[in-house]
Amino acid sequence: MADDLPLHWILHELDEEAVRHEAELAKLPEQRRAHDARVATEKRRVDASAAAQADRQKRRTAFERDIAAFEDQEARYAKQLDAVTNQQQFEAKQHEIAGVQAKRSELETQVLTLMDEEEALATAHPALAAALAKAEQESAAAHEKLAASESSLRGKLASLDARRAETVAKLDAPSRTRYERLRAGRAGRAVGAIENGACGACFHGLSPSALSDARRREKFVACEGCGRLLMLPPEGTASA
Ligand SMILES: [Zn+2]
Repeated sequence: MADDLPLHWILHELDEEAVRHEAELAKLPEQRRAHDARVATEKRRVDASAAAQADRQKRRTAFERDIAAFEDQEARYAKQLDAVTNQQQFEAKQHEIAGVQAKRSELETQVLTLMDEEEALATAHPALAAALAKAEQESAAAHEKLAASESSLRGKLASLDARRAETVAKLDAPSRTRYERLRAGRAGRAVGAIENGACGACFHGLSPSALSDARRREKFVACEGCGRLLMLPPEGTASA
């Protein structure tokens, strides 16, 4: 049993390192999503600007059609003016002409406003497009970096797996089973280090008798909090 302790300490260190790498790996999707979200935001801005531009153009085209219709009407009324026979008819026609002119003038003002808006949108568009291009470029670079991190982490984990298998093979069958079972059920950490008189994994305090058992370095102590095997770091590496 005492011979198993150094092997378990090696497993403890391998597992702690693996858990750290797994935690890094687990952060990658969120980091990827953050870059994708930034690109999506910039893309929405560009799309919104293009949609606003199209909307202004569509409304302006409709107003311009209406303006042309009013112009035709004005021309018709002007012709009819030649045919009037008295002052009353003349004034009535003049009144109709003024009405059409007022409507046309109002639409012309709106067309000018729309043209101003279209111009402002067109002026702002290149900056939005550039921001999108920059976000896409930076996101691509970040994704590349994250992919490199992922492959490095997976490489480290594979090497830790290999070293773990090598170490586990040196354990007797019952110890191996116990270790594997604990590791599977305790988030990858079967063996906890005793730190400051407590389990280094769940921080449950050890009783004085458990602590004195651990100090003899002859057998494992089971953590009452998490059930992991607990041991003191080998002498010279740390203290309880
Ligand atoms: Zn514990």
